[in-house]
Amino acid sequence: MREIVFRGKCADDGKWREKEYKDGKLYTGTECYDFIEGTACEWTGLNDENGRNIFEGDIVRDTEDNCIGVVKFGIYDNPGRADDDGGHLGFHIQWVEKIVMRRNDILFWADKIKVIGNIFDNQELIDQHKELEVYRSIGTVDELRRAKDQQIPKMVTHESSVYKCLTCPTCKNVVDEFTTLNGEKVRVTYKYCRFCGQALKWEE
Ligand SMILES: [Zn+2]
Repeated sequence: MREIVFRGKCADDGKWREKEYKDGKLYTGTECYDFIEGTACEWTGLNDENGRNIFEGDIVRDTEDNCIGVVKFGIYDNPGRADDDGGHLGFHIQWVEKIVMRRNDILFWADKIKVIGNIFDNQELIDQHKELEVYRSIGTVDELRRAKDQQIPKMVTHESSVYKCLTCPTCKNVVDEFTTLNGEKVRVTYKYCRFCGQALKWEE
């Protein structure tokens, strides 16, 4: 059976100490400390990939795809496991990212995660990550869509207010430019719009 170890933030100096938790006090073996209420966290019995103890309330990072989550104790479902029927009780990871079909069982993750802080001292890790996630998801999808669309050549348009000038169908800038070839004025048909990168198709 695994050893029951608690960690808590001590009231007098704010330092984290761990060992035995009894009647609201922490016993390290030689000393007895008062806790800051709500900071007593149980050790999951597991270590992260660096061998560090993983406690309840720890913030962990999945070292493969950088998702972050909080270690919790309680009832949880495990949608990432095909044979899972939910309703488990125990330590698990609540991921900050809302990824469908991601496993929450901590046993699966223990050697693939790194403890990067805890929810008492490092709430900013979660806040920053949430902002970053929102930014990333918008940025990526939008950029990908735009990049893909721009690769398909589009016919130049006549939307310019300047008579007969040709414009980029995407950014509406005038893309008409002329050069003189053998004494004749000829249109330069750029493959891409120099303003926005749109691939262009020109009239024959
Ligand atoms: Zn353009």
